[in-house]
Amino acid sequence: MTAPPQVDVVVIGGGQAGLAAGYHLRRLGIEFVILDSQAAPGGAWQHAWDSLHLFSPAAYSSLPGRLMPPQEGENYPDAAHVVGYLADYEQRYELPVRRPVRVQGVHRDGELLRVEADSGTWRARAVISATGTWWRPFLPAVPGREVFTGRQLHTVEYRSPVAFAGQRVVVVGGGNSGAQIAADLAPHADLLWVTQREPRFLADDIDGRALFDAATARRRALERGQADTGGVASLGDVVAVPPVRAARDAGLLKAQPMFTRLTSDGVEWADGSRAAVDAVIWCTGFRPALSHLAPLGLRGPRGQIPTHGTRAVDESRLHLLGYGDWTGPASATLIGVGRPARDAARAIAEQFGTVRP
Ligand code: FAD
Repeated sequence: MTAPPQVDVVVIGGGQAGLAAGYHLRRLGIEFVILDSQAAPGGAWQHAWDSLHLFSPAAYSSLPGRLMPPQEGENYPDAAHVVGYLADYEQRYELPVRRPVRVQGVHRDGELLRVEADSGTWRARAVISATGTWWRPFLPAVPGREVFTGRQLHTVEYRSPVAFAGQRVVVVGGGNSGAQIAADLAPHADLLWVTQREPRFLADDIDGRALFDAATARRRALERGQADTGGVASLGDVVAVPPVRAARDAGLLKAQPMFTRLTSDGVEWADGSRAAVDAVIWCTGFRPALSHLAPLGLRGPRGQIPTHGTRAVDESRLHLLGYGDWTGPASATLIGVGRPARDAARAIAEQFGTVRP
C-alpha cells in the first residue's frame, strides 16, 4: 500500500479564514493544501439569507493583500458580493483548494498529523483548522420543542420572508441574526420577536468599521498593559444596519421576553400567557465546527480547545483560526482574520525552522 501524500500544512476549510491562512503560508514559501467540504468557493456566505448585507463597507471587509471592491449601488455589500470576492481571491493567489473534500478526523501519526477525509488521506507537519461555525447551529433546550406541530428552523435554514407571508412567526434571539431576520419578516408576517434580555442596539453611526476600531483599541491597550477598554461588547449587541434601523424606527421591532416552553400550537410564558404561532425561527447562534478534531482529545471546558493565540495548547502542530475571539481578536470577521492568519503562518514557519522567531 502506498503511503498517503505528505504536505507541510493541511488547512481544513476553504472559507475566508482558510484563504487568509493560504495567503500567508504562500508568502512564507510553505507548501500547503486547503481541503474544503463545499462544492464551490465562498464558505458560509453561499448559504446566507437573501437580504443579508455586511455590516461594514467593502474596504472594511477585506482579506490580506486585496481590497474588496465596492458593490455598485450598495454601501454595505451583500453576501453574493462576498462570495464573488472570495472566489476571485482564491484564483488570484492560486490557492490550492480541493473541494468538495470533507475532513472526518485528524489523528496523531508519529511526527506528523494524519488528516483523514472522505476522498483521501493526507499527512502533514502542521494543520490549520478553519471550519467556521455555520455548520453547527445551536438550539437551546426549551421544553416542548418536540410537541410543537408548526415549523421550526434555525438561522441557517432561513432564506426569505416569502415562505412566511401572512403567518404568525416567532423569531428567537437578540443578536444580529435575530434582529435582521425579524426586520426582514416584519412587513410580511405577524411577527413576535423574543429575546432573553432587552435588545441592545448600537448607536446608528456605529457599523463594523467602528467595531473593528474598538476591537483594535482594546487589543493595543491590553498589549501595552493598559486598562481593558471593554472593546466591542461594551457598545451593544445589534448593529443598526439600514433595514434593522428602518424596522425599529417604524415600531416593528419591539421585543418580548423569552417564553418558557412551546405548546403544540404556540409558545407559553412563565405567567401562563400564550400565543399561537405557525413557525419558530431560532436565531440562537452557532458553535465551532470541531468534530473532525475529536480524535486529538483536546476539548476543554465549554467545548472549546484551549489555545495560545491560534496554537492549540496541548497539540503544538495544530492551529485554530476564525472561530471567535478565543482564536484571535475579531478573527471571525473578514477584516479581522488576516492578523491571526499571519500569526499562525509565522508560528508554523518558526516550528519548521524556516524563519527566525
Ligand atoms: P466559513 O465561512 O464557515 O468557512 C468554513 C469552511 O470550512 C466552509 O467552506 C465549510 O464547508 C468548510 N468545512 C467545515 N467543516 C469541514 C470539514 N470537516 N472538512 C472540510 N471542510 C470543512 N463578518 C464580517 O466580517 N462582516 C459581516 O458583516 C458579517 N456578518 C455575518 C452575518 C452572519 C449571519 C454570520 C453568521 C456571520 C457574519 N460574519 C460577518 C462573521 C464571519 O465573517 C462569517 O461567519 C464567515 O463565514 C466566517 O468565515 P470562516 O472562514 O471562519 O468560516
